[in-house]
Amino acid sequence: MNLGRDIVATVAAADSPLGQVARAVDVLSSHLPTPRQPRACPFCLASRWPCRPFLDTAQHITDHGVDAASLVPRDLHQVLWPDNKPATRAS
Ligand SMILES: [Zn+2]
Repeated sequence: MNLGRDIVATVAAADSPLGQVARAVDVLSSHLPTPRQPRACPFCLASRWPCRPFLDTAQHITDHGVDAASLVPRDLHQVLWPDNKPATRAS
């Protein structure tokens, strides 16, 4: 997976909130823009970011009790939450 960003891998218990959305975290990360093009999804070429798959996946992650904001690089927080108040929902 080439995100145009450095990535890390980690281990979580499968039955933990994060473990239950591990696949969704991968999907969410694949729809993150690069630092040079913060309004373009590298996966959904025709869509501006945040794209629908990103928003739907962020909602799924949030619904499982995991803070989606903690999975988004800080340089993109201003794009998602221009009032500078990170919300638990990305939509
Ligand atoms: Zn996308």
